[in-house]
This record gives sequence, C-alpha cells and structure tokens, in this order.
Amino acid sequence: MSAPTEPRPDGSRPSWGNISDAHWSRARKDSNQEALAYYRERSHAPGVREGGEERNFYCMECDGVIPYDPATRACPHCGATLDAKARRYFNWVEINEPAESDLRALLPLLLGGALVLATALVALIAWLA
Ligand SMILES: [Zn+2]
Repeated sequence: MSAPTEPRPDGSRPSWGNISDAHWSRARKDSNQEALAYYRERSHAPGVREGGEERNFYCMECDGVIPYDPATRACPHCGATLDAKARRYFNWVEINEPAESDLRALLPLLLGGALVLATALVALIAWLA
C-alpha cells in the first residue's frame, strides 16, 4: 500500500515524509515578516532578553518585563508610571475598570426608608407619652 500523493481538491499535497517546499513551514517562510520583525524586536526589550517569570506583564513605553506585583507603581526599566487599571500582557492588554458605586441609585430608597423609620419612631414616642 502506498501513501496518498494525489493533490487534494485545493491543489495542496498531503504532508508526510521529508519536508518538501510545499510544507507549510517552508511555503509560508516569507509571509508575516512584519509580525516576525515585531516579535524579534520584543525579544530584545529590557527583561525579555534575560527571560521573565511565569506571570508578568509588559511596560507600555519600553516593552520591558514587569514582575507581577500589584504594588508595583512604576516600570523598573524606564520609570514610566503604571496604570493599575490597564495591564499589557504579551499579546493583549487587559483593562480592568472597577464597577462604579451603587450609592447614587440606592440613595432615594435609603432616604425614604430612613424617613419612614423616623416617622414611625416619632409616632411611637408620641403614643407612649
Ligand atoms: Zn518601561
């Protein structure tokens, strides 16, 4: 029994045996050069070159590695101030906006409840006196 070597309907050939020039790892070697250049540049950012920890994030200004520590307020490489709400991980930025307070929405209910309670208390005192 021989391995299938017939071209598929899309013109590609099955990938097996020695890697031919049609194999994806060779056929795409000239594509995405801009992305590859970007990641090569990122590899030389401060702290990246030396290797980071298992969980860390990156500076928005100098691309440097910043150890994951909620108390960190400035980049150890360039001194840029870090925004605690936005963190840049390797290939995404996480924006964590804390929810706004519900006090303004609940204030009318709170005041109404306090008013009813005060009225009931005054009526109770007047009835007892
Ligand atoms: Zn920095």
